[in-house]
Amino acid sequence: MRKIPFLFLFFLFVMQTNAQIKLKAVPAKPDDNPLLRQWDTPYQTPPFRSIRPEHYEPAFQAAIKAAQADIAFIRDNSDTPNFQNTIVALDRAGALVTRVSGLFFNLLECDATPQMQDIAARVQPMLTEYSNSVFLDTLLFQRVKYVYEHEFERLTGADKMLLKNTYDDFLDNGANLSNDQKKVFNEISVELSNLTLSFGQNALAATNSWQLHLTDKKRLKGLPDNELAIAAQRAKDHHVEGYLFDLSHPSVNAILTYADDRALRKEMYLHSCNKAFGGEFDNCANISRILTCRERIAQLLGYPNYAAYALHNRMAGNSGQVYDLLNQLREASLPAAQKELQSLREFAKQEGLKGELQRWDFAYYSEKQKNKLYNLSTEQLKPYFPLDNVIKGVFSLAEHLYDLRFEPAADVEVYHPDVTAYYVYRQDRLMAVLYLDFHPRSTKRSGAWMTNFREQYIDANGHDVRPLVSLVMNFTPSTGKTPSLLSFSEVTTFLHEFGHALNGMLSDVPYAAISGTNSPRDFVELPSQLNENWATEPEFLNTFAFHYKTGEPLPEAYISQLKEMRRFMAGYSSVRQLSFGYLDMMYHTKPAQEITDIQARELEIFKPLDVMPTVPQACMSTSFSHIFAGGYAAGYYGYKWAEMLEADAFSVFQQNGVMDRETADRYVDAILSKGGSEDAMEMFIRFRGRKPSVEALLKRDGLK
Ligand SMILES: [Zn+2]
Repeated sequence: MRKIPFLFLFFLFVMQTNAQIKLKAVPAKPDDNPLLRQWDTPYQTPPFRSIRPEHYEPAFQAAIKAAQADIAFIRDNSDTPNFQNTIVALDRAGALVTRVSGLFFNLLECDATPQMQDIAARVQPMLTEYSNSVFLDTLLFQRVKYVYEHEFERLTGADKMLLKNTYDDFLDNGANLSNDQKKVFNEISVELSNLTLSFGQNALAATNSWQLHLTDKKRLKGLPDNELAIAAQRAKDHHVEGYLFDLSHPSVNAILTYADDRALRKEMYLHSCNKAFGGEFDNCANISRILTCRERIAQLLGYPNYAAYALHNRMAGNSGQVYDLLNQLREASLPAAQKELQSLREFAKQEGLKGELQRWDFAYYSEKQKNKLYNLSTEQLKPYFPLDNVIKGVFSLAEHLYDLRFEPAADVEVYHPDVTAYYVYRQDRLMAVLYLDFHPRSTKRSGAWMTNFREQYIDANGHDVRPLVSLVMNFTPSTGKTPSLLSFSEVTTFLHEFGHALNGMLSDVPYAAISGTNSPRDFVELPSQLNENWATEPEFLNTFAFHYKTGEPLPEAYISQLKEMRRFMAGYSSVRQLSFGYLDMMYHTKPAQEITDIQARELEIFKPLDVMPTVPQACMSTSFSHIFAGGYAAGYYGYKWAEMLEADAFSVFQQNGVMDRETADRYVDAILSKGGSEDAMEMFIRFRGRKPSVEALLKRDGLK
């Protein structure tokens, strides 16, 4: 994944809260505060060693004050508005806010001490108020609109894109509404933010509302030792004997995938299939109200429904394109899923299953079937992926394809002793400083992500400011006896995040707001997912995947198994993702008032895609946090969209050779260096020679 840049956070803040806060008197003495000083470090990298948590709040206060002065200067300019004095000036405004946020919000993710969390709670309302004041500044918007109306046709390339995005951002945040409408817009935004918060809280409370407590280990037969250890630890944390399971995904999966006891699997499934549906934490009313609010916001801004509003600045553009993709994939995936299920039913029968294969049997038997078909375990692969070798492999792939050179940057300060910094060169040109942060910490959020401490852009003096890119992971650490050995899925994650990093490091764009990974949400995962493809390429693996003890290369048989495993249950997984995509689109295209019975609506969408018996009490919408509490509303299709793009783009490498420099050069020119500075479809077409097609994805997954 990629962390949402803070500029987007601003827009989200506007949607979330309108809290008023009085700025405290600024006690900061700018000279004493490293966040506000000129940085005399190499390439103006952050002087992490001298930054302390107590520096942030006064720095934010001073930075916002400076940003307000920048905005006032642009607004009060007596010259006729033009692209330079308004749009470019806005992109450069608030440089200090950008700097301080770039550090603070990144560290909040990977070093979230209670002190940092407290500060976040105080500074977020300040930032919200600042961003509201920008978007709802009528005079400022008049200047932006004037430039849009007078210069849009004349401008080209990155200039045109920056103007379009700036104008759109103002519109999407209600700048063009009448005063009365603005009031309504604000009220609905605040309500929506409370509703999505409440949805998330209910979903979480429902997840924690039921526990399976077992003291008889025999009932847990089939569970591997590591899963038993996790459940035992959970019990210990709750001061009970034995083993404890809850309704969180890893816990549910452990039972459904491994427990031999069918009644236990059924019990777990039935408790997990309708979280927050009815009962104390019911989310049905929240869903109805969220959909109504979203529809009203969309309509206020001139769109027929929320999907039209959300999609207008994405690559897909409109719901017609989204449905087109979903339908094409359904046509190929559904028959494949039916076949896979037929084979699974037969397998389960041979394994002794009595009666019909039910939903609580799926994970259990498909895991067994997979193990029978492919004799390759996670543990077998790990010794071939010691972290140090994987780093060398990933670097040398980037060196070979993109001409990048990585040199340890011992003189660059880091925010934690575990972090390593590198200078990244292309020939003699410094492209970026790259920070790598690999292992878990109690103050680090789970998952893996790429982020920037600074975006790439050209400053007012024409100087190319290079980006500070950071990759944060939670990989298996080393133990006393063994070095850090990565699982194959961790190797793939590294490649994924490194693909985002390439997008950042190779960026060659004049404006920060459209550089690097600042591209449409359904396009930004193309470089990352494309980079994952090398994970199963022998030409890549042969350069670094050697057994850490014997030095033996990764056996060829393992590599071909890895490729084949990708196709296991591909039809079923595709259909599952598609049903969520359809459900999301239904909720955000149908008139909200027509959606009264949540469970019935969901069933109506899922039924035609079902390959297993329906469970009457199931309802997943009430815990579908991606679309009701996260940022995926009318965006869930994006997972499949990005897969279509990357599989199609990778097919060019497959044709020309996965190590072909010329293809890589074209990829850099067309996509990696361009950030979001051009229309995503045009960028794709320039590389691929035509619009994206699902053929390559279907072929790779064995669905065609
Ligand atoms: Zn990603």
